[in-house]
Amino acid sequence: MLSLLRRIVQEVGLASDLEGALQLVVRRVREAIAAPSCSIYLLNASAQEYVLMATVGLHQAAVHRVRIEVNQGLIGAIGQREEPLNLKDASIKPYFFSDPQAQAEYFGFLGVPIIHRREVLGVICTQKTEKQAFQEDEEAFLVTLAAQLAGVIAHAMVVGVYPAEGIYPKDEQETACLGGVPAVAGVGIGRTKVIYPLADLEAVPDRPCASIEAEIQRFEEALQSVREDIASLQERLTESLSQDELTLFSAYLHMLDHRGLGLEVNQEISVGQWAEGALRRVIKRQVMHFSAMDDRYLRDRAEDVLDLGQRILFYLQKKMRLPLDYPEHTILIGEKISAADLAEVPIDRLEGLVSYSGSHNSHVAILARALNIPTIMGASGLAVSELEDKAAIIDGYYGHLYIHPSEKLLKDYTLWAKEEDELDIELQSLRDLPAQTPDGQVLSLLLNAGLASDAGLSLTTTADGIGLFRTEISFMARDRFPTETEQRTIYRQLLQAFSPRPVVMRTLDIGGDKPLPYLPFQEENPFLGWRGIRFTLDHPDIFLMQLRAMLSASEGLNNLSIMLPMITSVEEVDESLQLIQRAYAELNAEGLKMSKPKVGVMLEVPAAIYQVEALAKRVDFLSVGSNDLTQYLLAIDRNNARVSDRFDALHPAMLQALQFAVQGAHAQGKPIGLCGEMASDPVSVVLLMGLGFDHLSMNAAILPRMKWVIRSIPHHRAQELIVQAFQLDNAALIRLAVEKVLDNAGLGGLIRAGKR
Ligand code: PEP
Ligand code: MG
Repeated sequence: MLSLLRRIVQEVGLASDLEGALQLVVRRVREAIAAPSCSIYLLNASAQEYVLMATVGLHQAAVHRVRIEVNQGLIGAIGQREEPLNLKDASIKPYFFSDPQAQAEYFGFLGVPIIHRREVLGVICTQKTEKQAFQEDEEAFLVTLAAQLAGVIAHAMVVGVYPAEGIYPKDEQETACLGGVPAVAGVGIGRTKVIYPLADLEAVPDRPCASIEAEIQRFEEALQSVREDIASLQERLTESLSQDELTLFSAYLHMLDHRGLGLEVNQEISVGQWAEGALRRVIKRQVMHFSAMDDRYLRDRAEDVLDLGQRILFYLQKKMRLPLDYPEHTILIGEKISAADLAEVPIDRLEGLVSYSGSHNSHVAILARALNIPTIMGASGLAVSELEDKAAIIDGYYGHLYIHPSEKLLKDYTLWAKEEDELDIELQSLRDLPAQTPDGQVLSLLLNAGLASDAGLSLTTTADGIGLFRTEISFMARDRFPTETEQRTIYRQLLQAFSPRPVVMRTLDIGGDKPLPYLPFQEENPFLGWRGIRFTLDHPDIFLMQLRAMLSASEGLNNLSIMLPMITSVEEVDESLQLIQRAYAELNAEGLKMSKPKVGVMLEVPAAIYQVEALAKRVDFLSVGSNDLTQYLLAIDRNNARVSDRFDALHPAMLQALQFAVQGAHAQGKPIGLCGEMASDPVSVVLLMGLGFDHLSMNAAILPRMKWVIRSIPHHRAQELIVQAFQLDNAALIRLAVEKVLDNAGLGGLIRAGKR
């Protein structure tokens, strides 16, 4: 059964139109269970009804016509109860299920809900003529199939092969709203630009082409390149393959023939589709066609078609990795947007960013925050491929993207966007004032940085220094490890620019979601694997090179602090301190004169929180990495869109951990700060003040806003809020309580669009 399941899901995954795929599923289920009838109903949420989408055993004319209200009959009951129903006789009350479309009289009934991320998407059911319930293994089969199908249906909705009624605006101009995790606050108004990964046929969007002839020409050239590749492959392998095996290549060439694939793609292009979109459509159709064949040999040809499609796509894209034409006000959208994609857009054109994968703490979101680009992560609800070049508004406070916004929405958001700009200008008046609460408590505000060019920030920022320099970024941007001299140059630039202000440099924190392209290693759980200090301690050569570069860069400046990431136990600190001492002694012996750097530890693994005093005794300062601490304390992947709504740094357990850390550090007389994304969230900043943090580190763009928070809320009020927060047992209530205080203090503009 497992291989059958796998095959069904594979076939569905390859489908270019979901309805055809569902029809395939019902046929396969009928074969597997040997029941005469199987049907799939999908929910049309806007009409609150289930629509029959595919069937065997009911009349085909019933497809799309049979509609069942969500609270009606057996199908409605399965959806409402969210569990399977297995009945000996579905014709008796209370479950009376008699279908006028049935081709026979059915009694035994098994129905299973199709659920994706807690939402019922539909129901799959099978029926038989005997008065007999289905067997347990048949029920288990259908439940497993429904669970796998759910992901595929949900994905089909995202990529647009299932334009379900009620999901898309009926009228092109009707406003549609797409939701996700609010990752960077702010408002952006502009036009959408969809980007997609190269060589991924599935992700290619539909796009009109400017000239049909030029497009056909481009496609023909790509086709010819693939033909040449295949022919030369065939020639090269003539010696080593049998004649039978070589016929496969002839079959490929045949498929690439003008009368085959080429003809169909050209037909799609001639109605105005660009070559990539036309190719995607044709390949999906053909894959579907082959997958549905009963003959195993022909079914396997689906893989070949897909492979050929990818090869043609490769050549199409090779010829034109476009300097994309970005609209003047771009809202960038993609299933998966990387930091490199973001970097490609001219920054003055970027109004917003919407990624279908990833979460609030993904590194691309952190980069967007540093650039102050309103951002939504883990978005869902509309098909990426349908979102090209649409008028849109992004609300990064609530995580909403409006497509075809109404005049009223446009008017409101234009006003709010203007107010946001005014607020930023007003906040410049705080530039030279300290981050001091109205009752005199001072917090040190520092910057998070990662690029050599961030040295330029020293001229514009009033930050007290750098609180986190992510050194791995310059390691990631190369095709080999940077030499000691190259590293020293980068570090020196930053230390010099900020001198005499302190600069905290974090030692290499690779692993997790930050692999080095030139040091690939596979791990099943990279976030629990060879990360941060674990890697550098296992590679003293690389670690020492970095330490020497940092220390020598600080000669004559003496404003360097070194911070150790991912510390889990005291031995790691002791070993690191020895290596720092060794590097220092070596450089001294070489004649360099610099003062000893301060050394700090990041508290980002829960174990480190509970050893805070032992750690604090060994070092000069501590800094909480709230991104990873939240991830490890709540056991929620910081990059996984599926669980991102559960990722909340205000979880009561986090607040307890933070309080424990602050008390432990202070008991040892050591300062403690926080350098994760919590320090960029106004609600969290109030609570961090109340908890007694000494310094906060954040990106340059958000700093004036956080200074405004600190200068507006008295320290004693923040302490009262902490007491109140500890009495609440869920993050949403804690957030609400603090938002009320921010609102009353006139800081509503920090938690929603606009100034108030
Ligand atoms: C953190 O984990 O909070 C942190 C600051 O480090 P990074 O986001 O680079 O893992
Ligand atoms: Mg971290």
